[in-house]
Amino acid sequence: MAVRWPVVLAIVSLLSACSAPAPIPAPDAASTPAGASEAVVNVYSGRHYDADGVLYQRFEAETGIKVRVLEAPGAQLLERLKAEGEASAADLILTSDAGNLAQLKAADLLAPVQSPILDAAIPAKLRDSEGKWYGLTKRARVIVFAKADAAAAQVKSYADLGLPRYKGRVCVRSSTNVYNLSLLSGMISSQGAEAAQKWAKAVRANFAREPEGSDTDQIKAVAAGACSLAIVNHYYLVRMLSSKDPSERQAAAQVQLVFPDQAGGGTHINVSGAGLAKFAAHRENAQRLLEFLVNKPSQTLLAEMNDEFPVRADVPAAGAVVALGPFKESNVPLDSFGANQAKAQAIFDAVDWR
Ligand code: FE
Repeated sequence: MAVRWPVVLAIVSLLSACSAPAPIPAPDAASTPAGASEAVVNVYSGRHYDADGVLYQRFEAETGIKVRVLEAPGAQLLERLKAEGEASAADLILTSDAGNLAQLKAADLLAPVQSPILDAAIPAKLRDSEGKWYGLTKRARVIVFAKADAAAAQVKSYADLGLPRYKGRVCVRSSTNVYNLSLLSGMISSQGAEAAQKWAKAVRANFAREPEGSDTDQIKAVAAGACSLAIVNHYYLVRMLSSKDPSERQAAAQVQLVFPDQAGGGTHINVSGAGLAKFAAHRENAQRLLEFLVNKPSQTLLAEMNDEFPVRADVPAAGAVVALGPFKESNVPLDSFGANQAKAQAIFDAVDWR
């Protein structure tokens, strides 16, 4: 327990050597060795947004609790935490996607939290039923289509993407990406594995190209005419619409977003979320930070800076997100994704959606 910060320092130097994350505050020499009574909280984050940094500063100013952050991509966080085990310095773990949160839970890296504050702020479907993780921001996995393509403009559902008339017109990223794994996991939850496999097979048959690139790359491919339809998270389009790069704004102007399945089960939604680390030394501080992140001012800032939806019903989304229009969300509980994740990957593999 006493060797916590040297371990983290080693990781931080490894990290900065390969992926240049946002600056990580150096551990305060005066405050080592770490102990439960210290006024600090150590955050391991798979997110890399300016908004988070602003919120940590506000939290420090309000509480006097110092926030120390280690950033790494979601998949690396999981491996890191597994490798560190009990020696981990992590108190609070933040990452995108319920699928990543489910993997942390399945690896027994999270501790349950009971909190009336969290329960009141966050709808039940956006948090783990055992209190091991909580959604902090919400995103929709939507369809974008080329405005110039009249047939594509008729798309209304995820199932439509498998219609014969869209043969060779669909772009989507790899099935190993957790956003797609969670989308299919949600379908398995709501429709069963057989229907989910039929869908994946039909969509795969309509691919314009083998999966490549990010969600943003799919939007660009639609704008460039390489395909007419793509599956992406809503905020990528919103960000492109107001991008500093004129070519991104131009590309975004060529496409339109549709919230799928409005006449059926509703659009697939997901979250970025957080959970208390199993071996957290600063449990109370971590819970306090978690509760702070869902208070009204924090949710307002997250909504406005990141173009995701707040999880709180009493905080509005950013103007550009509200402008997308109201939509019906799927009611599938997000903590059902984890149990279906392996099945989802097996289905993608079986239909050759790489
Ligand atoms: Fe994303």
